[in-house]
Amino acid sequence: MNDAPTAAKERVLTGDTPTGSLHLGHYVGSIENRLAMQEAYECYFFVANLHALTTRAKDKEGIRADTIHIVKDWVACGIDPKKATLFIHSEVPAIAELTWYFAMLLGYGRLMKNPTIKDEIRVKGLGEEYSFGFLMYPVGQIADVLAFRPSFVPVGEDQVPHIEMTREVARRFNQYYCDVAGSVDDKDHEEAGGVFPVPEAKIGRVARLTGIDGTQKMSKSLNNAIYLNDPPKVVKKKCNKIFTGRGSMDDPPVLKGNTVLEYLDAFVEDREKLAELRAAYEKSEIGDGHLKKEAGEAINAKLEPLQERRTKISDDDVIDILKDGTRRANSTAEETLARAKEAASFGFFKREISFK
Ligand code: ATP
Ligand code: MG
Repeated sequence: MNDAPTAAKERVLTGDTPTGSLHLGHYVGSIENRLAMQEAYECYFFVANLHALTTRAKDKEGIRADTIHIVKDWVACGIDPKKATLFIHSEVPAIAELTWYFAMLLGYGRLMKNPTIKDEIRVKGLGEEYSFGFLMYPVGQIADVLAFRPSFVPVGEDQVPHIEMTREVARRFNQYYCDVAGSVDDKDHEEAGGVFPVPEAKIGRVARLTGIDGTQKMSKSLNNAIYLNDPPKVVKKKCNKIFTGRGSMDDPPVLKGNTVLEYLDAFVEDREKLAELRAAYEKSEIGDGHLKKEAGEAINAKLEPLQERRTKISDDDVIDILKDGTRRANSTAEETLARAKEAASFGFFKREISFK
């Protein structure tokens, strides 16, 4: 992948669902890439409040509160609203409209083969109880991305199947409506007259951070997360609970797939110290408790400056940031929608979106 920006800045798009505040998985999986990319790319980061309806449709206060929390978390992490456009999903209608067009370009069977969808249904215990809208959300996600015509989408590994479907739909749209030949390379779609680029996933430093349960991906919905906003005591407590894979203390230490080692690797900055800890653990000179304590300290050291910054951001600041960003986001998404409709021969009138 070529990360070097060209003269006209390439675009980046990604978002988080307000099903809770942000956690360490978000940080290493996607936020770090956003921080690096906001310097050189035209970045769009959004709170996917419409997607939160898939699993918490009745919880209107919760979705709203988490929308505010997430923006605070972003800014606390160093995402800069002057460099990146931060916006709210529900106020960008072009996305919902594109969802309709894209839904027609994706087979039902293809959608249900998406492993992320299957995993979510299983892991979140949705059984047969998911809404029709739950199946619409991956299509909506395709529209979230393509509305901004980005080159890159910084996400964790779990999102790769969604990005793969996004790429398929971009190609199909360009082929059906913009006369792009099937033989055209992904990177040349726009040059060949396509409305949409074929965007690439940009996976984080840690592709999939495990939760403190030691098995599932750390996730807002699985009660296994360490949140960016957790006080130091809570972080320590959660670290003490990490499942290291060891059945009893008489068993030898588990060296592969051990979540405490994963956290140390992700958060201990002093790499020499890390190597020493590892070596001592392998020889059973130190045990799980020692490593858990070290992990808690490393995580707290990482979170302290973030939490300090977070206290300075008010709810009103968040609304101002979102209003400003959503205006800009609409301008880009409306342009995309107009181009897509024109290509599909649905371009009857021009329109503008404005906020009071
Ligand atoms: P939910 O449980 O509601 O699905 P989530 O914790 O999976 O929430 P999302 O809002 O779905 O969070 O994901 C936001 C972004 O963070 C996505 O790019 C996703 O890939 C990334 N991400 C989430 N969890 C992890 C993780 N454990 N490791 C790496 N990246 C992650
Ligand atoms: Mg998720």
